Amino acid sequence: PPSSLPDDASADSTINGNGAPSATHKRLEGKVAIVTGGALGIGEAIVRAFVSHGATVVVADIDATGGEALEAALGPEVCTYVHCDVSEGADVERAVGRTLERHGRLDVLCNNAGVLGRQTRGANSIASLDVAEFDRVLRVNALGAALAMKHAARAMVPRRAGSIVSVASVAGVLGGLGPHAYTASKHALVGLTKNVACELGEHGIRVNCISPFGVATPMLVNAWRQGGDASSAPSQDEVEKMEEMVRGLATLKGPTLRAGDIAEAALFLASDESRYVSGHNLVVDGGVTTSRNVIG
Ligand code: NAD
Repeated sequence: PPSSLPDDASADSTINGNGAPSATHKRLEGKVAIVTGGALGIGEAIVRAFVSHGATVVVADIDATGGEALEAALGPEVCTYVHCDVSEGADVERAVGRTLERHGRLDVLCNNAGVLGRQTRGANSIASLDVAEFDRVLRVNALGAALAMKHAARAMVPRRAGSIVSVASVAGVLGGLGPHAYTASKHALVGLTKNVACELGEHGIRVNCISPFGVATPMLVNAWRQGGDASSAPSQDEVEKMEEMVRGLATLKGPTLRAGDIAEAALFLASDESRYVSGHNLVVDGGVTTSRNVIG
């Protein structure tokens, strides 16, 4: 392989699906990353994986309790929390500004922040569309990612380098897998990824997204439990039941989809190992979207 690529890093890999260090080779050594929605769930696993692979990470989230706890757990020299509502341009600009002030550069943006939105029967019927709820979900999931790309691009273009990785969803690939607003927002995010990849490619910046199937995070467990966004930590019992349900739907039988599996995909797309991959949607779904056996 070309000398700028690591020598057979996969030889050291132990994929464990738990967001724990998965390789002795540090794939993001010296890089500076922002992870939006990094305080909890999939975002937290991505932050832990990035830090374990040598990155310095800024967690941009609205959850101060979770963000500060993660900063304390990983150490403020490699992980800092910044309050940021991604749907507010001023917040996003401040988060990118703080990152540049503190670390002098931005190599990786991971757009992970997202909300599912209410999925009660009424709210999920197009005939009784809740305009405010539709707007809220689109603002966080689609506009939030666009705003973060805007401010990240301003930092990355002058250096002619960078990787932008967004967490979309299988609901950005197929219909019938989530509330209308969520599905529309994730299709928007997949489309935005392709368009921005076309634009930023000439500046040497790669733009990709990941589409996970069900991971038993607070978002998913709470939706299953009470039909709304995350409000409390799921119990071990709830997590196990959710994982069993997801395992039953996946075409691939065996492993359980964990947040760490999404973190592995994010690591690949963030690192130079994917240096020729851009405009791609990496589906991590155990084969669900390739089969007819999907929940409708
Ligand atoms: P989660 O609810 O467990 O965590 C989401 C995080 O985003 C939280 O830390 C929350 O505080 C933060 N957040 C919410 N709104 C925000 C805002 N306006 N600004 C900044 N931060 C905000 O969710 P999760 O399951 O870990 O989901 C993470 C991403 O993965 C989302 O984009 C979600 O749509 C996507 N996803 C999740 C699943 C799944 O099964 N869990 C499947 C496909 C895609």
